[in-house]
Amino acid sequence: MKQIKVIVLGAGFGGLCTALRLASKGFDVEIVEQNANAGGRLNIIEEDGFRFDTGPTFFSMSYEFEEMAKDCNIKLPFEYERVDPLYAVNFANGNNYLLTSDVANLAKQFELLEPEFEQKFKKYIDRGKYIFDSTIQPIVKTNHSSMIDYIKSMAQTPPELGLMLFRNFWQEVCRYFTNEEVRQIMSLVAFFLGDTPFKTSSIYTLLSYTEFCHDGYYNVKGGLYKIVEGLVEVLKEQGVTFTFNTRIVGLEQENDRVVALVADNGTRYNADLFVINADAALFRGQVLKRKAFDENHLSKMRWTFAPLTIYLGLNKKIDTIYHHNYYLGNNFREYAEKIFTNQVSMERPYYYVNVPSRMNPSCAPEGKEALFFVCPMPDLRYKKDWNDVDQIVNGIIEDFEHKSKTSIKEHICYQKVLTPVDWEKKFNLYKGSGLGLAHNLGQVGFFRPKNYDEELRNLFYVGASTVPGTGLPMCVIGSKLVTERILETYGSI
Ligand SMILES: Cc1cc2nc3c(=O)[nH]c(=O)nc-3n(C[C@H](O)[C@H](O)[C@H](O)COP(=O)(O)OP(=O)(O)OC[C@H]3O[C@@H](n4cnc5c(N)ncnc54)[C@H](O)[C@@H]3O)c2cc1C
Repeated sequence: MKQIKVIVLGAGFGGLCTALRLASKGFDVEIVEQNANAGGRLNIIEEDGFRFDTGPTFFSMSYEFEEMAKDCNIKLPFEYERVDPLYAVNFANGNNYLLTSDVANLAKQFELLEPEFEQKFKKYIDRGKYIFDSTIQPIVKTNHSSMIDYIKSMAQTPPELGLMLFRNFWQEVCRYFTNEEVRQIMSLVAFFLGDTPFKTSSIYTLLSYTEFCHDGYYNVKGGLYKIVEGLVEVLKEQGVTFTFNTRIVGLEQENDRVVALVADNGTRYNADLFVINADAALFRGQVLKRKAFDENHLSKMRWTFAPLTIYLGLNKKIDTIYHHNYYLGNNFREYAEKIFTNQVSMERPYYYVNVPSRMNPSCAPEGKEALFFVCPMPDLRYKKDWNDVDQIVNGIIEDFEHKSKTSIKEHICYQKVLTPVDWEKKFNLYKGSGLGLAHNLGQVGFFRPKNYDEELRNLFYVGASTVPGTGLPMCVIGSKLVTERILETYGSI
C-alpha cells in the first residue's frame, strides 16, 4: 500500500514529536525547516567549549515524554534527572529563599513571614491538585471540534472552576497567603507561561501543584538539547527526512486541499497532508493571508514576553548560586504590569539565571562556568529599537554582581546576546514573543488557534500557539492531539 506522505513545516519540539508519532504509525514524513539545525526554540549555542541551551532549561510532566516513547515503541533517547531544590528566589532587599518540594523545609523558611505557612501551603497545593485532576483529561488532553464539544468538556469539570476563570493568578494566591514575598514567590510560575500573574487565569495555579508536588522539574543530562539530538537520531532511523535552510513562504491549493508548500526559492514540497509547527496564529496571517490573523488582528492579541537572553562563559567557577535562580526587584506589581508595554525603567531588572554547567559539567571547559540569563522584555510592538542593548545587558550584569555578591565582569571569556529582534528572525516568532500566544481566557481551549485548519482539510498545526499551549510538555500533548486528529481523518495505517 502506498504510504501517506506528510510534510512537517518546522523542526521545533512540537514538529519533532509529531513526526515521531506519525512515522511510528507508518506515515512517510519529511521535515522542512528554515534553520540549519533542528530544535526551534529548544536549540543550542556551542562555542569556545561552552554549550548553552538557547531557551528551555528544564521540563516538567516527565510521564508525558515517557508515554510518547511508549506510544511510539522507542526508549527516550536522553537521560533526565529530578531537580530539587527547584530554584532560588532572591529579592532586592537581600532576602533569599530556596524553593523545594520538601514542605517541611519550605515551612521552616516561611513560617516567620507567613504564620501557619504549612497549612496554608497544603490547602493551596490541594486546590491546585483538584484543578489539575479536574481539567487535565477533559480540557487539556482532549480535541474539541466545536463550541458544543468544548462546553460539554467544561461541563465535566466542577462548576466552581468556572468562577475561577474570572480571577487572575495573583488574586488566587492572595486568597491563601498574606505576606508579599510569599505571594510573589508563589506567583512566579505564571512567568513560565510567559505572562504576568496579573494577566494569567487563576486556573493555572495548578502549576504550583505540578512544580512542588506532582512531578517536579527535570534536568536533561548534558543539557536540554540532548532531547533534540536524540530525537533527530531516532527519526532518521525511522526514515524521516530533513530539509534544512528552507523557508516556506506560500502554498498551493486545489479546492479545499493543500497540494504543496512553496519555499522562498520557489521549490515546491508536495505531500498528502501538512503539519505546521511554525506559530499557528502567525502562519495563518503570514502565509494563508487570513483576515482573522492579519497584522491588525495579530497585534491586538495578547502575546507572551519577548526574551532578552545572555549567554556568558566565565574563566572561573562560581559556587554562590544554584542551578536555577530568580532575581527580583522591589516593584513587583509595577514591573509585571508595565514591562510588557515598555513603560517601566530597566534600571531594576527582573531576570532568571541558569548555571548550565552546574548539573551538566560538559557544558563548560574544566574550571570554567556557563551562565545563562533570561530577562522578560516588551515585544517589538512596544520596543522596536534595541540600540541600547549593551547598556541593558551591562545593567543586568551589574545588578547580578550586586545581588549575588559575585564578581563576573572581569571573568567573562565568552559572551553572546539575543534580543527580541534576534528571536523574531531566528525562529519566525511574532514580534519576538518567546512563548507564543498568551494564556488569557480568550486565548485558551476552543478559543486558541485550532490544531486543524478552518478551511483546508489536510492542513494541521502543532506547537506553542495552538492547543493546548506553550512549554515542552504541552508540545508533547499537542503532538498527541494533532496525531489523533490526523488518524481520525486518515485512519490508522
Ligand atoms: C527563553 C525561553 C525559555 C524557555 N524555557 C522553557 C523551559 O525551561 N521549559 C519549557 O518547558 N519550555 C520553555 N520555553 C518554551 C518552549 O521553548 C516552547 O514552548 C517550545 O520550544 C515551542 O516549541 P514549538 O513546537 O512551538 O516550536 P518552535 O520552537 O517555535 O519551532 C518552530 C520551528 O519552525 C521553524 N519555522 C517557522 N516558520 C518557518 C517557515 N516559514 N519556514 C520554515 N521553517 C519555519 C522555526 O525556525 C522553528 O525551528 C522557553 C521559551 C523561551 C523563549
